[in-house]
Amino acid sequence: MRTIIQNGTVVTSGGIVKADVEIKGESITSISQTVKPEIGDRIIDASNQYIFPGGIDVHTHLAWPFQSTGTADDFVTGTKAGAVGGITSIINFTNPKRGASLIDTQKEWIEKGNQAVIDYGLHAIINEYSDRVLEELPILAEEYGVSSIKLFMAYKGEMMVNDLEMYKIMKKAGELGIITNVHAENGDVIDELVRQAIAEGKTAPIYHGYTRPTVLEAEATGRALAIAEAADAPVYIVHVSCADALNKVDEAKKRGVKAFAETCPQYLVLDISYLDLPNFEGAKYVCSPPLREKWNQEVLWNGISNGLISVIGSDHCPFRFEGQKTLGKDDFSKIPNGVPGLEDIFSLLYHFGVNEGRISLQKFVEIISTGPAELFGMSKKGSISVGKDADIVILDPNRSRVITAETQYQNLDYNAYEGMKVQGLITNVLSRGELIVKDGIFIGEQGRGNYIYRDRLHNKQFELTKNNLKNLNNPSSTGISFKVQYDK
Ligand SMILES: [Zn+2]
Repeated sequence: MRTIIQNGTVVTSGGIVKADVEIKGESITSISQTVKPEIGDRIIDASNQYIFPGGIDVHTHLAWPFQSTGTADDFVTGTKAGAVGGITSIINFTNPKRGASLIDTQKEWIEKGNQAVIDYGLHAIINEYSDRVLEELPILAEEYGVSSIKLFMAYKGEMMVNDLEMYKIMKKAGELGIITNVHAENGDVIDELVRQAIAEGKTAPIYHGYTRPTVLEAEATGRALAIAEAADAPVYIVHVSCADALNKVDEAKKRGVKAFAETCPQYLVLDISYLDLPNFEGAKYVCSPPLREKWNQEVLWNGISNGLISVIGSDHCPFRFEGQKTLGKDDFSKIPNGVPGLEDIFSLLYHFGVNEGRISLQKFVEIISTGPAELFGMSKKGSISVGKDADIVILDPNRSRVITAETQYQNLDYNAYEGMKVQGLITNVLSRGELIVKDGIFIGEQGRGNYIYRDRLHNKQFELTKNNLKNLNNPSSTGISFKVQYDK
């Protein structure tokens, strides 16, 4: 069946045009002012609505065992929530058991993702260094299409690697065209601050924020960037939360490091005062890095505008309040770390970014779809253009909704953005040509999502430095802030 989306306004990172979109099978086949409907076509009317490429959330923790519990969303509930929220692809993290092979872990997680309703890729987490890791990386890349790994500088004893291990892994990854995601916080010092606070009887959620100061995020960010520079490897700093850390990214980019930064909606919209809410409600907002003082928000928005930040990811790491967050009732260090965001990231970015005038429509598309697709090697995703997968979100800018746990698809008893009114209503979502969300209701089938084999960065063809500098010098630029090419 052919599908035609009529009368809408197509937005890409390169421009905005009033046009019809023709879809045959799973792909976009034409974008023009005059696609002639025929009998048997499915027509979707997008009058007065925007047609965006589907959102790509490269930072999710579905079905994730963590800190004595596990995240509340699996690949079914999580991807349904993402779909109604305008996300048509995710990259989830694996979570290898101690001593497990990366290959076995990858197979296990591809299997877990079988139930997804949208397409999914997997970043391979490496939580423990061994020679075998270096041997398995090429296999992961070649046979499993893994073009990104992740290392932690925090969570000592669980996932943290040391500097030498990070260097060796980054170097190997860089040679293979694999980009390394880094969780940058100084785990050693944080552990000591946490121990001291608990010993002094400071057990409330707000101390989660006080024991993870911005300076320790900035220090680790700077260190990761320096190690990546020494290893001549591309690096992606996940969840940059504050000005101090973003400054390190700025410095590194200026000296030519192949550095990229991500931020998350919680750092753009929420702040540390949420950790101080009464009745232990602050626990709902415990995530790492923690929410920061409000003034950092503007710095992060500027970072998005001027190209310092390439991608927005949700860091969707959902735990229920009752029974999970309450594990830390008497000790903030036992509150599982994470906030939900997969269902609302698209809306939050549209509302607080585009609707409130902080970013352009094209910039919106760039950081929620085109940027992540390019950086993480998803060549069929990330744009409304001929030949790409028909992953499409239709949004009515004249309608609004109020975010609430009562109506969410996320498997949670709260929503971190409860009560916020967001302008712009997602009406229809297509994934590879199939209408999976109609009038805001999920109508797709469980298990229809495909595993995404991703392309690697071709190191030698990096044009990052040049383009990043150009972008910094031209903050009003709305074009893609980096240009990379891939090995097929
Ligand atoms: Zn995360």
